[in-house]
Amino acid sequence: MQPVNLRAFHAKVKKHAKGMRAFLTRVVNKPPRKLEATLAVIDQEVWQEVDCLSCANCCKKMTPTFTDKDVVRISKHLGMTKAAFQEKWLYLDRSDDWINRRQPCQFLDGKTNMCSIYEVRPSDCASFPHLTRKPFTDYLPWHRQNIQYCPATYRMVEKLRERLATLQPR
Ligand code: SF4
Ligand code: SF4
Repeated sequence: MQPVNLRAFHAKVKKHAKGMRAFLTRVVNKPPRKLEATLAVIDQEVWQEVDCLSCANCCKKMTPTFTDKDVVRISKHLGMTKAAFQEKWLYLDRSDDWINRRQPCQFLDGKTNMCSIYEVRPSDCASFPHLTRKPFTDYLPWHRQNIQYCPATYRMVEKLRERLATLQPR
């Protein structure tokens, strides 16, 4: 497993993100057979290559959503009231979702890239980057967005592109 080089990653994104997003749109418009089975294999491969502890770009550049259960669990873990936690760290967006205020996230240890509330972290963080969430097409807007932040998502799309020639249209 190679450490993530964020500088090189950002250079690749600048050059290829547009083409990768167009590719994802083509996949959704004409999904190949065995798409999700292929993605399950790709997911395994991606995590053999990408080391999140050398990256933490999602914790630095994105803002997770906190469900009500997340707020209850995490505030209790920190010995705070739910209201005090919300007031200190979150804001309500236009869809009435509680979103983290800070970037990088206040729970990220900048020296180790570790999450200081890992055991109780928000479910959004625990399932990020949602590579095997089904159906794939429902997560397309997130994958399209996450290409620019997440080297694992980027690698997933790269690998899918490499393999698509061997997949048959449905
Ligand atoms: S809660 Fe933890 S995993 Fe989630 S963004 Fe913050 S540091 Fe990262
Ligand atoms: S999930 Fe993506 S952005 Fe987050 S640490 Fe792992 S590779 Fe980096």
